[in-house]
Amino acid sequence: MTQKSSTTDSPDSQSSPNPQSPAAAATFASLDPRTGDVIAEYPIADESAVAEAVDRARIAARWWDAQGFRGRREWLLEFKKAVARGATSLASVVSRETGKPYGDAFLEVMLAVEHLDWAAKNAKRVLKARRVPSGVASINQAASLEYRPLGVVGVIGPWNYPVYTPMGSISYALAAGNAVVFKPSELTPGVGKWLEETWNSIAPSQPVFQVVTGLGETGSALARTGVDKIAFTGSGPTARKVMAVCAESLTPLVAECGGKDAMIVAADADLDKAADFAAFGAFGNAGQTCAGVERIYVVESVHQEFLDRLTTLVSRAKPGGTDDSTYGPMTLPRQIDIVRSHIDDALAGGGTAVMGGPDSVGDRIIEPVILTNVPETSRAVCEETFGPTVVVNKVRDLDEAVDRANGTNYGLGASIFTRDKAKGRELAARLCTGMVSVNSVLGFAGIPSLPFGGIGESGFGRIHGADGLREFSRPKSVTVERFRSPLKLMSLERPQRDLDLSARMLKLMHGR
Ligand code: NAD
Repeated sequence: MTQKSSTTDSPDSQSSPNPQSPAAAATFASLDPRTGDVIAEYPIADESAVAEAVDRARIAARWWDAQGFRGRREWLLEFKKAVARGATSLASVVSRETGKPYGDAFLEVMLAVEHLDWAAKNAKRVLKARRVPSGVASINQAASLEYRPLGVVGVIGPWNYPVYTPMGSISYALAAGNAVVFKPSELTPGVGKWLEETWNSIAPSQPVFQVVTGLGETGSALARTGVDKIAFTGSGPTARKVMAVCAESLTPLVAECGGKDAMIVAADADLDKAADFAAFGAFGNAGQTCAGVERIYVVESVHQEFLDRLTTLVSRAKPGGTDDSTYGPMTLPRQIDIVRSHIDDALAGGGTAVMGGPDSVGDRIIEPVILTNVPETSRAVCEETFGPTVVVNKVRDLDEAVDRANGTNYGLGASIFTRDKAKGRELAARLCTGMVSVNSVLGFAGIPSLPFGGIGESGFGRIHGADGLREFSRPKSVTVERFRSPLKLMSLERPQRDLDLSARMLKLMHGR
């Protein structure tokens, strides 16, 4: 992505408006990461354009709320069908804008459709009004709880999974009865526009789902408009900026940020399977996966054997710019410098490259890099690399593996490989992350009923599942008096007799 009429090869041009040229600041271009060629120009929505979209969304939200669960389910299933019917065209847009092979893009679309389907079909069950017990002290009240829509949700998305990730917020926010204004990443505006056009093809007069394109400033404007919640997915540093803006108006925020996910390989693990998943988790999508595998802790008795198998597998990988490539170029050019600096830091700290090294970092494509014996203080271990590199470190035992896995500020996902499933569950409970897969990687991402999100530097709040639906709702508590209370306690003229009786009841009920 670059500003119109700025140079396409400057990494800084990926995100900074050109102050010299007001005309150029009105649009930006999305670029093909394989070549740097301009794909298309998109408008930069300024503060007033964003505010107008939110105003339209406020009106549409009333119509959307009035549709009720059944009506929204029907609309969303129509939306789902339209996305599924257009999946090949959407996957092509994703592939063009991110540089990922078509097959990977298609997989992403498939997963997003599953989530949309689940959200549409389960919103009523999770959110509808229900009676809840009133308790002995309030026996005269009928108590009910329902989850009401928030109103308008602003979604700010990343580029690495430009359909799957934002749709994890969009689908659940819509199903919960909200209108959505979506600001896609400036690297993938075409994906956002495709989704908006598809919604408009089924509900042309109801702007329940709108897209505003632009750079970071457009996202910031969205956070400032007073929407009822912001669902942000992106890096921790940007999340902090968004949170600061949201703080001004007490706009609530769900933040899905980066990860430094660890894989643990036990001595009894199926090493072929572990290596296969490790290769996919670390190098798939050129390592640009928030919950990808960045660190692997292998129990020492099988460390060398695992490393050999992983190296053999990864040596067959063919990164490149075609659809049969294993993975594509780096989507965000400036990430290349970060990846290089992590490799350099690992080696300078005494780590060893068993595959690739600094020379693997090309202009656009990074060949696979496997590092071992990297100090735990290295940037390659502590910070999100977001590239096709992985650290495979040796540990004494599984306790040390858990300690090290828990040793960063991140806490998104993790994976464990062991034939002992009970042990796997026990280790999963000890990992300080939002999600864990035993004997697979990213197993949780494709299960719509499981909430997705992290802790610490990986963010807060949840998308997906029942928790994801509630994230975009506000609980509404209602009581209706069924009969007059036998005790007159909520009165300025409270009888002493009722208070004495209450004191005896309190002892009887809770004091024994
Ligand atoms: P980013 O933080 O650079 O940008 C994310 C979005 O925020 C973009 O749409 C951008 O335009 C917008 N933005 C930038 N500055 C802003 C500001 N000041 N106010 C409001 N919005 C602003 O992240 P990215 O490079 O697009 O995505 C990569 C990051 O996202 C990685 O750290 C990755 O791990 C993370 N990610 C997390 C998840 C998850 O679910 N946890 C999923 C995918 C990606």
